[in-house]
Amino acid sequence: MATSAALRAPNTFRAGPDERGRFGIFGGRFVAETLMPLILDLERAYEAAKTDPAFHAEMNHWRTHYVGRPSPLYFARRITEHLGGAKVYFKRDELNHTGSHKINNCLGQILLAKRMGKTRIIAETGAGQHGVAAATVSAQFGLPCTVYMGSKDIDRQAPNVFRMKLLGAEVRPVESGSRSLKDALNEALRDWVTNVADTFYIIGTAAGPHPYPAMVRDFQCIIGEEVRTQIAEAEGRLPDSLVACIGGGSNAIGLFHPFLDDPSVRIIGVEAAGRGIETGEHAASLTAGRPGVLHGNRTYLLQDDDGQIKEAHSISAGLDYPGIGPEHAWLKDTGRAEYVAATDAEALEAFKLCARLEGILPALEPAHALAHVIKIAPTLPKDHIIVMNLCGRGDKDVFSIAQHLGADL
Ligand SMILES: *Cc1c(COP(=O)(O)O)cnc(C)c1O
Repeated sequence: MATSAALRAPNTFRAGPDERGRFGIFGGRFVAETLMPLILDLERAYEAAKTDPAFHAEMNHWRTHYVGRPSPLYFARRITEHLGGAKVYFKRDELNHTGSHKINNCLGQILLAKRMGKTRIIAETGAGQHGVAAATVSAQFGLPCTVYMGSKDIDRQAPNVFRMKLLGAEVRPVESGSRSLKDALNEALRDWVTNVADTFYIIGTAAGPHPYPAMVRDFQCIIGEEVRTQIAEAEGRLPDSLVACIGGGSNAIGLFHPFLDDPSVRIIGVEAAGRGIETGEHAASLTAGRPGVLHGNRTYLLQDDDGQIKEAHSISAGLDYPGIGPEHAWLKDTGRAEYVAATDAEALEAFKLCARLEGILPALEPAHALAHVIKIAPTLPKDHIIVMNLCGRGDKDVFSIAQHLGADL
């Protein structure tokens, strides 16, 4: 728990951000002058939509009939028995249309784009999962979609690039910097500034300039809200621990946020430790980064001694981001949430266990969350309830898993 007066625990952890978009010293909007009017316009539109019952009714319609919500809360009986301690539940967001939680956010943002009269969608993507979800909703709502993607990621993620094209999106390679996600985000921000009038930028995680971190969080909160209802039905009480993997932090904040003011609920985010924190080849910005400014907000970042952004590494492309949403940075410093890390090897073991015991191929991202569940569940009593967000399915990962296991497809 941080001791500085500025970080003293507030009465509620759910009120943020403030009117400048800050969570404590984190967040904000560090953007070029030219971007400011767009950001303010978006903020106004979102504030209006948030309190409009028609917006929520429309969202609920699409959640039910297109995304397939609510996703089940599933008691993982065989993993629970195998670990011999706490009761483990999975929130099955991998069953959503397009295979992860990304669609929750894309749906919210495209409905907002329609409301604002925008006629063109842009997005950035790293692994391609957000690009696919953005291309999917763009197809459904009949808007042209351009996805910025680092050329290195284009080479690494061929199936998702092809999926986006099948869905009618244009995939624009980004050749600058490390030719990966952070560069794609910069390029998308540049596009937005130059195409002010007609373009809506769908950011893929709870990061970027205000209001994105709060808006993406709100769209993902459906995960935690459903869990509250579902665990009450299943167990008649709140869970004891929540566990989710952390890339930019959107699936995690969606699960965590509705429980932030329930002090009995322990909250744990799991970052990617890659080849091990000590090797420097990881994506653990909260565990091993320092505060700085990137992509329009102040947050924890992987940086070298000169403040240059370091490249992230993880077996899972979706966790491969050198930053983290600002609300997590604040939750870490206030001590309300804990952040730990799991290695590539631990995630692979968790993946195999889940496949064999539950008949579920998880994505490599939530396999990191499961790796932590595997560490703590045996140390906890049998009446301790853990809810883990199984935020994506592993179909997209079978080729890279085959490579790691030395299998020849
Ligand atoms: C993109 C992705 C992540 C990481 O993003 P967050 O914003 O941290 O949720 C995690 N899991 C899956 C399945 C993803 O596709």
